[in-house]
Amino acid sequence: MLSNADVAAKLLEIRTLMELGGESFYKYMAFEKAAASVENAAPLADVVKSGELLKLPGIGKSIGTVVEQLVLTGRADMLDDLYRRFPPSIMEVLAVNGIGVKTAAMLFTTYGIASLADLEKAIAGGVLAGVPRLGPKTIENWKRGILAYKGRKHRTPLAFALIVAREAMDFVLEGPPLDRLTFAGSLRRQEVTVGDVDLICTSARAAEVTAHFCTWARAEAVLAEGPTKASIWLPGGLQIDLRVLPDHLYGNLLQHFTGSREHNIKLREHAVRRGLRVSENGILNLESGDVVTCSEEPGVYEALGMQYVPPELRSGLDEIDLALASSLPVLVEPRDLRGDFHMHTTWSDGDDTLEAMIAAAAARGYEYHAVSDHSHGRGMRYGLTPERLREQRAEIDAIGTRYGICTLQASEVDILPDGSLDFPDDVLAELDLVVASVHTATHQSREEMTSRLIRACRNPYVTIVGHPTGRRFDGSPGYEFDYDAVFAEAARTGTALEIDGQAMRLDLPAPLARKAKGYGVTFTTDSDAHRTGDLAAAELAVGQARRAGLTKEDVLNTRPLDAVLAFIQEKRARGSEVR
Ligand SMILES: [Zn+2]
Ligand SMILES: [Zn+2]
Repeated sequence: MLSNADVAAKLLEIRTLMELGGESFYKYMAFEKAAASVENAAPLADVVKSGELLKLPGIGKSIGTVVEQLVLTGRADMLDDLYRRFPPSIMEVLAVNGIGVKTAAMLFTTYGIASLADLEKAIAGGVLAGVPRLGPKTIENWKRGILAYKGRKHRTPLAFALIVAREAMDFVLEGPPLDRLTFAGSLRRQEVTVGDVDLICTSARAAEVTAHFCTWARAEAVLAEGPTKASIWLPGGLQIDLRVLPDHLYGNLLQHFTGSREHNIKLREHAVRRGLRVSENGILNLESGDVVTCSEEPGVYEALGMQYVPPELRSGLDEIDLALASSLPVLVEPRDLRGDFHMHTTWSDGDDTLEAMIAAAAARGYEYHAVSDHSHGRGMRYGLTPERLREQRAEIDAIGTRYGICTLQASEVDILPDGSLDFPDDVLAELDLVVASVHTATHQSREEMTSRLIRACRNPYVTIVGHPTGRRFDGSPGYEFDYDAVFAEAARTGTALEIDGQAMRLDLPAPLARKAKGYGVTFTTDSDAHRTGDLAAAELAVGQARRAGLTKEDVLNTRPLDAVLAFIQEKRARGSEVR
């Protein structure tokens, strides 16, 4: 059921699309007035039910029908008709500062520009150069407007984009026969948020595959449909592009559309120096005219005389130089994981019981895992008191190794504002390991937060600092502290830093993990799961570790249990020396 505000927003969208379509001022302004009226009305569901809708100011019979459809079904025939003329993505173009309705209409009718991506392409390709009234100054303003818009634009967190991509691929697989199908782009590079999803497919029946893709019920609109490419738009603003080419080009296609843009530019520059031109259609030898096509992606890098570059490293930093020197790191992989140190149960704020979490961790093939329910500082509702911790220990002991996995008892202990921990040392000493995290007083000054984290690292019982920056995709940019000072201290004291795989966290961020590695820090890649279904988030953490260039040796939970226990013991044994 749409709220009044939602209905008003849709009415304003109709108003804009009508103006785009050249409707008269009075007709589209009626929708603007109706939107204002709806916003000030009683809850529309009630108004419709009581038959009072047409009594609202500015709501006549035809607008009343639209409002009623929106309230009851979330859509309206009139809006659907408008979407058939103008894809919803055209609203992006209108959101760019400096582009009004008349200009957007001209861009759409004359140049087919229906989305921000279209506009950028047109600008980059010089299509708009020389168009009357669009001087270079205007175009420059638009470019700035586009950047500003992108900053505001909603991006989808990796975990959710992955789910949608998999669902879209399942749907494509139900259609005409194909050879190979995967995702490319920022999703494959495991960027933390994703603007659009690129699907790559090979099939001898490309046009049928794209046509089938466009019939997906989840699509709110089809942005483009052609014999080898189609784009759809999902509610919430996620675009999915599907490209279909013959199978012998799969490697070229995948390499090209995985990006990043910066990586591909550097790759092309290197290729040109060797007399080659790289594109999605193959590698052209500029002198002989021969084209090398690659059915597998590593073939592309081989043809360019370098080591294969894993997608997560294709950022345009130093990876091509390293690949040419055959000195890329061998990245950690999900299958290297032997355990997970961070998960919650119904003992604190988890949704599943201790036994269910143990069974699920075992089912992932882990050798060990740690249950790390919250400490009592989180309040009576969540946290465990020392007494409750001991009761939990008894339950862990009673389950034992029944599921074929070793369960360690940990706790996610709050780091208090002064850097001390929420449990005294004698309680910490009873735990097998300790994850220490900041959850409160996150707005401290940079100096306070730095010394708070340093003090936590100096506690001999702290094995891991959990989600070290506190950034979340649904809000907090994370707290400020002196990264160099804290990373150096973590390395010196033998404290591991976590890469937390929770969908909204992915914290440490990869660039910071890369920096921390420079100090010799040891990492963990944990799920921070609150239910059995979230244990797979450890793989997202591994993805971020890979983006940071981490190897298996850098990650504590790839080590056998005795090596993990030795790591914990070593820090404890140093005792006051680390303080
Ligand atoms: Zn936490
Ligand atoms: Zn947690």
